Amino acid sequence: MQERGVRVTPQRAHIWRVLVESGEHFTADEVWERVKNALPGLELSTVYRSLEALRTAGLVAESRLPEGPRMFEARPRIHPHLVCDGCGRIFHPDPEVGRRMFEALDADSGGFEVRELHVMVRGLCAECAGQGKDKAES
Ligand SMILES: [Zn+2]
Ligand SMILES: [Zn+2]
Repeated sequence: MQERGVRVTPQRAHIWRVLVESGEHFTADEVWERVKNALPGLELSTVYRSLEALRTAGLVAESRLPEGPRMFEARPRIHPHLVCDGCGRIFHPDPEVGRRMFEALDADSGGFEVRELHVMVRGLCAECAGQGKDKAES
């Protein structure tokens, strides 16, 4: 964290650890639920500020589903999301896919400096496709 120029506070270190260890996407509320026992008196607004500091340092990525709240996770800023219409789960393709997207944009966007990439792909996961599940059924 220090390497990225983030001032390390106990809150930030704890929030970062929760995100890394879970490997999941959390809203700020969900992060708060998970850290408030370990950090008594912690306010939701502090969680937001900590997430913002981690995001600015590139340690945390923020993304948003079309109808959803802001979500945070400990992953690089450039990673596509695959959202299943059947079960609503979020998947990540091989990190190589994100890297190739980034390289293609970087090479062909006329000098535009790409810093973040939010890609949301909708479809059916292998499990739901196998069960013939679709939105039309629900
Ligand atoms: Zn993600
Ligand atoms: Zn699914």
